[in-house]
Amino acid sequence: MTLPDGTERSAAPLAAAPETRLPRCPVCRARDMRKSERAARHHAAWRECGHCGLLADAAALASGRLPTLIDARLAGERFSLAPDDPFFVESYSARTLALSRGLVASPVNDEQRAALSNPYTECPAIADIHPLAASPAVPVSLVVICRPGDLSNLRDQLGPVASVLDDLCIVIDEPPTAGTIPPADWPETIRILQRPLAGDFAAQRNAGQEMARHDWVLQLDADETVGEETLAALGHVAALADAGGCLSVGLARRNRVDGVLSDLFPDIQYRLNRRVVRYAGKVHERPALAGGWRDSFIAPNLVIEHHLSRAHVERRSERYEALQPGKGRLFERDALLTPYAD
Ligand SMILES: [Zn+2]
Repeated sequence: MTLPDGTERSAAPLAAAPETRLPRCPVCRARDMRKSERAARHHAAWRECGHCGLLADAAALASGRLPTLIDARLAGERFSLAPDDPFFVESYSARTLALSRGLVASPVNDEQRAALSNPYTECPAIADIHPLAASPAVPVSLVVICRPGDLSNLRDQLGPVASVLDDLCIVIDEPPTAGTIPPADWPETIRILQRPLAGDFAAQRNAGQEMARHDWVLQLDADETVGEETLAALGHVAALADAGGCLSVGLARRNRVDGVLSDLFPDIQYRLNRRVVRYAGKVHERPALAGGWRDSFIAPNLVIEHHLSRAHVERRSERYEALQPGKGRLFERDALLTPYAD
């Protein structure tokens, strides 16, 4: 999977590719349950999710009973594993497990807290469970990078967002003007910065990071939206990241090609970042994190809807290939054009 720093999340996999016959991960929905050294330390028949770090018995995965068991373990006020449970999480992966159900897992002691910022330990997670919606929240800015032709659509899209977030920044691919433009008849919470994209998506996003007023920033493209539930949860997840010393959060992106959900899901995008974080990479830009992936985690409850047309998908691969040869990601194009399946 694509991690913020481009490295593998866990120990090197023993198998080159995930076992596609296994179901998707019951936590993050990735089709990425694979053999790994870490999984093999638990049992030869166990697998690791290359996205979120869940360890699970392959037979239990295939049986389809893990989601119910996970729900049962999260149902009380305190999460802990039974010795014979067919899945394993330590503090770091327990955080994502709880978020996948709209919950917060709070480590119960210093050892558990240390494990949160030092994945992956062998120490099973023990955590107090609370509803995410009842947890602390911090304000979040929104940055949208776009082209001039996107502005009229954005105005409609940002209306509902403006009632939840109070700092909306648009970075538009245009020759620069002096300072930001206050749009005359738009909500006053929206500011527009004009600067040329010049083929450098990271630089465009970084201009947005600098423009934002809050410590946490969600970055979207003009063809991406977030729903009410994600909007409401953003500030709570950002506060949770602060509490755990994390700088970057991965959101699950749903690609819809001509309206059809693509098999390329969750398509994790590290788009909720502290303002100080900077992106790197002209295309397929991602946050540059000093501590690598350990400075980040996945929040499966935060979803970006990405609206694409088939023609756009095919053009995009060609354009990226031209900007940065080898980065056209033809495999990604093929996955985008395959309808979603469990
Ligand atoms: Zn997973």
